[in-house]
Amino acid sequence: MSVPETTTLDRAAGPPVLAARGLVVRYGRKEALKGVDVSFHGGSLGLLGPNGAGKSTFLRAILGLLKPDRGSAAVLGFDSARAGLQIRAQSGYMPESDCHVPGLSGVEFTAYCGRISGLGGADARRRAHEVLVYVGLQEERYRKVEEYSRGMRQKVKLAAALVHDPAVLFLDEPTSGLDPQARQETLELIRDLAHNKGMHVVLSSHLLKDVETVCDEVIVLAEGQARTSGRIDALKRMASGFVVRVDGEVERFARSAQEAGLTVERDGRGALLVQDGGGAGALTARALFALGRAAGTPLRHVVPAEESLEDLFLRALAQEPR
Ligand code: ADP
Repeated sequence: MSVPETTTLDRAAGPPVLAARGLVVRYGRKEALKGVDVSFHGGSLGLLGPNGAGKSTFLRAILGLLKPDRGSAAVLGFDSARAGLQIRAQSGYMPESDCHVPGLSGVEFTAYCGRISGLGGADARRRAHEVLVYVGLQEERYRKVEEYSRGMRQKVKLAAALVHDPAVLFLDEPTSGLDPQARQETLELIRDLAHNKGMHVVLSSHLLKDVETVCDEVIVLAEGQARTSGRIDALKRMASGFVVRVDGEVERFARSAQEAGLTVERDGRGALLVQDGGGAGALTARALFALGRAAGTPLRHVVPAEESLEDLFLRALAQEPR
């Protein structure tokens, strides 16, 4: 592996990798971010939302590339509005649009990005070779970037974002326009960086699958607002209920559960999906067993039902802005 192992920051003690408070960004009369409050303490974060949700704007604002109209943001404790240079020294940014310099080969372009990020000439060249091999462009690294395929151009952008060995990597739609194989390869590289190399990763995407493959946490952004955020596994569990099978009269148990304020759905094969009416996640298997006994319909089978990320995403989009 040619990307050096980065030190995982002390997640408990250090400043958040990313924090935003009341972040507002306007383009003329268009309010692209309407007061975003989020924090991320490290690991891998998906910024998930449909096109136009404000994801690129959010990334550019926290990297200090765009001045917010209100609110504040910080990366690794550095204020985005004042310390953009320090932030960019510690962050890699793979923008959505291409950013190549005409006439440069892959290795020249990547080394150039290393120089801009503060590396000396020899270091920048050495690192450029290392990261290009890491992203799988060893054969093509001497070819001009403008001759690259779409997949290769995405990879060279990733190499350029990695060249100075950043602590945090920000990726804006990194699989955009890729064929399935190139997409899989790119996601595997990002996963490797996040899970095996200790790099903090913030991945912006409108594709659920990308976020699900790479990320442990998610922020769902819609219409310039954070609709939901947290660990994906916890959000799935919280939003879910239990799959229940009843010994005896299913409908009798279903009525009792509804009378107790729970929502009940039938799966058509004799099982019920029982959820907390308020969706607060307080429902327990023990409470369901007790309810079954009280209703005279003992339960035979109670297992947690996980909501898919897709359901979670759709529900977050349908929610009233918080
Ligand atoms: P996403 O990355 O989620 O697709 P963007 O941050 O690119 O969303 O855009 C958020 C909103 O701001 C969209 O409505 C978009 O049309 C608008 N927008 C983005 N950039 C500009 C700009 N430079 N000028 C005017 N409006 C913009």
